Amino acid sequence: MIRITDKQELIHYLNCTGEEEEKLFQYAAQLRKQYVGNKVYLRGLIEFSNICRKNCLYCGIRQENSALSRYELSDQEVLTAAQYAWQGKYGSIVIQSGERTDRAFVLRIETLVKKIKQLTNNGLGITLSLGEQSAETYRRWLDAGAHRYLLRIETSNESLYKKIHPNDSLHVFSTRLKCLEYLQKCGYKTGSGVMIGLPFQTTEDLADDLLFLKNIHIDMVGMGPYLEHESTPLYAYRQSLLPLSERLRLGIHMVACLRILMPHINIAATTALQAIDPLGREKAIAAGANVMMPNITPINNRRNYKLYQNKPCIEESTEAALRQVAENLTACQCSIAWNEWGDPLKADKSNNSTPPEEAMI
Ligand code: SAM
Ligand code: SF4
Repeated sequence: MIRITDKQELIHYLNCTGEEEEKLFQYAAQLRKQYVGNKVYLRGLIEFSNICRKNCLYCGIRQENSALSRYELSDQEVLTAAQYAWQGKYGSIVIQSGERTDRAFVLRIETLVKKIKQLTNNGLGITLSLGEQSAETYRRWLDAGAHRYLLRIETSNESLYKKIHPNDSLHVFSTRLKCLEYLQKCGYKTGSGVMIGLPFQTTEDLADDLLFLKNIHIDMVGMGPYLEHESTPLYAYRQSLLPLSERLRLGIHMVACLRILMPHINIAATTALQAIDPLGREKAIAAGANVMMPNITPINNRRNYKLYQNKPCIEESTEAALRQVAENLTACQCSIAWNEWGDPLKADKSNNSTPPEEAMI
């Protein structure tokens, strides 16, 4: 058993090596098994559009990057991808996009969510990841049939948040917090997360990020290494970054520590881990993660949803990649939970998902 009772211990485990690291991963995997089972839930990722009104300093599809062609999938393309996920027994999908808040976009998403629900007889779970919206928009999309929403805080340190976003009214830390609050109040299963290895970020920041996620009682977490992109302002700081291997290591330690702090939640093994190491996601599963998001965007569009350098799966067929993942998962005694929505559990005594006392901070 591993005790994490204060921030110093958390920092210690984020940095640990050797035998201690092995024990950390084993204990996190044991908790995963105990609280959420040895199942890995799938979410077929549909990258709906790379059109974005924002200019986050780290992101390859930021509005001011003119070195890519912009696209929006047609209704037919989205429905075909949803059908593919449904027939392939993925259980659920994520619709992700650059951020837009105009009326046409809000209506389009609302209609698409309804159509997917109809098409699959309410069988496919729908997560949205469409950025900051008004409380009314979140409500409309929930009423249309979406039930989970992902909005990363990116970093819980407000002064670091300011360094990685432009200083204008579209990129405000308190707005991000407010949106997370809207989502939770509205009734979504709410996900958030951070980037790991950002310029100017310390291990203490990362420990604070985990404590932030715990304090807001988040249901799901997707966090992964920050990876540079040559057409973004943060690229100027590439020399000051941690080596990729270190960002991967920290990413996996973050997963393991979070599993110990919040044993009942859903934790994704993110694509950015796979961008550093082809087996990065499987390593995160072995350290306590329980969700994967295979890319089911039409292959022709994937190269234009390039958030960072070396984004994987741009050319790869989804079937072949998934077969390989299923095979790799057996090595960590896990298997894919076919045809399940895989909603996160609520942390209460009735479902035996209250975190162990020694992990309470
Ligand atoms: N526009 C929506 C939003 O920002 O929430 C959803 C799409 S956005 C591309 C999804 C996530 O990609 C962001 O929350 C961010 O953490 C991640 N991301 C963007 N650029 C990245 C980079 N260079 N390295 C790692 N992750 C990145
Ligand atoms: Fe747009 Fe999201 Fe990228 Fe920011 S992170 S530029 S909001 S797609």
